[in-house]
Amino acid sequence: MAKSEPVIDRSLATAQLVLEIATAAAGEAELDEILRATLDRLRIVLPLTGGSIALVEDDELVIRAAVGPFAEEALGQRAKRGTARTWQVVETGEPFMSRDIQADGVRPRGVKAAAQMRSWLGVPIVRKGKGIGLLEIDSTMPDAFDEGDVELVGTIVKALAGPVDLAGRYAAERRAGLLRDAFIGVISHELRTPITTIYGLSKMLRQRDDRMPPESRKEAIEDIEAEADRLHRLAEDLLVLSRAEAGRVEVSREPILLSHIVRRAVAAEELRWPDRHFLFEAMRGLPPVLGEDIYAEQVVRNLITNAAKYSEPETEIQVILDVVDEDCRLRVLDRGIGIDGDDTEQLFELFYRSPSAARHAAGAGIGLFVCRQLIEAMGGRVWAKPREGGGSEFGFTLPIDIESDPIPSV
Ligand code: ADP
Repeated sequence: MAKSEPVIDRSLATAQLVLEIATAAAGEAELDEILRATLDRLRIVLPLTGGSIALVEDDELVIRAAVGPFAEEALGQRAKRGTARTWQVVETGEPFMSRDIQADGVRPRGVKAAAQMRSWLGVPIVRKGKGIGLLEIDSTMPDAFDEGDVELVGTIVKALAGPVDLAGRYAAERRAGLLRDAFIGVISHELRTPITTIYGLSKMLRQRDDRMPPESRKEAIEDIEAEADRLHRLAEDLLVLSRAEAGRVEVSREPILLSHIVRRAVAAEELRWPDRHFLFEAMRGLPPVLGEDIYAEQVVRNLITNAAKYSEPETEIQVILDVVDEDCRLRVLDRGIGIDGDDTEQLFELFYRSPSAARHAAGAGIGLFVCRQLIEAMGGRVWAKPREGGGSEFGFTLPIDIESDPIPSV
């Protein structure tokens, strides 16, 4: 890499850099721009080949800015909290300098970089005693950095800590604001429709009950029941949603029998959707899984409702329960509108609805998010995939309770 000679008067260059960071932060430049500019300026002051700035996001260190020959490969990389050197630097709050990274077990940003680097310096970004990120620089030359460099980078990260912290809080507030807006949208739309129906129909029954033909009366009562059920389910999903937003969704993990729960859920959905054909198959001798009864049922009903809602009358909906490795697996298969293989992850995001789904039926985009929260809290996983021949598969696993004796299916 072509690089300029390190500037002789470091303290002046450092002071200038710190000033620039402060000015950029005051000008409300995007955080990533500030980080990138910091690395660019650092390049002029220090003999580095490359460098990066990673910030802590939940349980991951995410590379938000990078310079040097491997910058592209590095950008956006995520490292799960663990024993990696980068995480050690963040968690101990102590800088770490290596003159021979192979020997010291440092793995800088990506495979190619790791093969060529010799020197490495990582300095934590600390705010109120807590590691919130790390600035690292590296070089293909052995012994490229010294104690003076540790100090210099230390000064830089002190200047960065404020803007990084502020940006993090701003992003959290923006997320909360978006959620609030979306929530209000959902409430006004999703709650109003069933309430209007229930109100209108019950008023009609009260005023014209004796004059109504029995068939219309029965239909009105069924509609009221269906809409009340919809409201009830939405309220249940919203309850889990608010818990998820507050922190963790807490569920108990007791031995439960999925075959009973699923059978019950299928029976209830059959009543709600008399024109769909439900086919329930459960492997014999299914062992108990760990989870909470009502939440498992909430997930199963959400998946089955979706299968019915996003398919046409008279089509078949298969509900299959079996065992894979250490887990029980439930799959709900439909021949409905199907899903795009590319957005299967997105479907589990809060408020996401595919364009074809929005055209097909009303909805809030909360159900699958809630399913994922609940299943993961019970130690399982959820997925969605398109089905060959049309339609989709939604499923989840829950861990088998290895301490229970297998109970034969009934
Ligand atoms: P909602 O059904 O209220 O939109 P969900 O969170 O239950 O909310 O589902 C999110 C999105 O996932 C739906 O809007 C739809 O795009 C997609 N989806 C869920 N189930 C199915 C299904 N069985 N077939 C096709 N798309 C589905």
